Amino acid sequence: MDVVVVGSCNMDFIRYSRETVKGHKFTVGFGGKGSNQCIAAARLGAKTAMIAQVGNDKFGPDYIQNFRDNENVGLVGDTSTGVATITVDMDGKNTIVIVSGANDLLNEASVGQAENIIRSAKVMVCQLEISPKTTLAAMTLAKKHGVTTIFNPAPAMTSLDPQLFVQADITCPNESEAEMLTGEPVKSVEDAKKAVLSLLDMGCRAAIVTLGDQGAVLATATDRLPQHVPARKVKAVDTTGAGDAFVGALAFYRACYPNLALHECVERASEIATVSVQSPGTQTSYSYRRELPQTLF
Ligand code: ATP
Repeated sequence: MDVVVVGSCNMDFIRYSRETVKGHKFTVGFGGKGSNQCIAAARLGAKTAMIAQVGNDKFGPDYIQNFRDNENVGLVGDTSTGVATITVDMDGKNTIVIVSGANDLLNEASVGQAENIIRSAKVMVCQLEISPKTTLAAMTLAKKHGVTTIFNPAPAMTSLDPQLFVQADITCPNESEAEMLTGEPVKSVEDAKKAVLSLLDMGCRAAIVTLGDQGAVLATATDRLPQHVPARKVKAVDTTGAGDAFVGALAFYRACYPNLALHECVERASEIATVSVQSPGTQTSYSYRRELPQTLF
């Protein structure tokens, strides 16, 4: 196993709208940060596993089918599959409301049951769309087995257990999440350079802050030298899930190209995320390896 994701599965109901009340297009897709990151890594060629909960409802079986053979998805009764309603405006920007449903039921015991899968992986990826306690249990178990951990502290939350950052080899928030974690504004590249150093102070071995069309800033605990990786200028159609494309690609590179420097991994992950913002949808906008320039591999 290259990449194991412990995280969320949501059905995305996406409304495209030029104004507040009236939309002009509606689509349903597979989403949830965990699942998005898992699919992004899998499409690039990583052998992936997903540890998640879906509901015993109409969407659960559809969701499991979506993962086909590389999944480890439990079924629970009496709850709904996680649902996210997303509105995409004229500029491709999105606002999201999530009902977590079954994602909240993924617990430490479920993570323990998946220990064999976790110990077999090269990289684990976690987010905060499941209980932070479950996330911490998963990352602690991964570290026990020497698995590299990538922590995407999203959505933005306060009062997180500091151990989450200690267990993370790489912490990778976006601007607003970095702001919430550091208590400082993160609007510019210069702000992000300060933010990555603050994140390193929280105990992770490397920190990356993604900055939308400005790309990303990274630093490692060994050099503490923040570096900016700009994004290519493109016309964004739909930025939903760009951060997940980035994190999934980062996991792919860490797992499948262990000798690639972090800076190079970030450049390539940023390029893959930039490709994703040029197509509509979340997972539907993620590229397969064969569609991408072979210089990325
Ligand atoms: P989302 O919550 O919409 O999934 P995010 O806020 O977590 O996204 P971003 O920082 O917006 O993540 O984007 C992640 C990466 O995607 C960026 O580092 C960049 O490489 C790429 N990206 C995002 N928006 C653009 C854009 N408009 N043009 C080019 N690249 C972009």
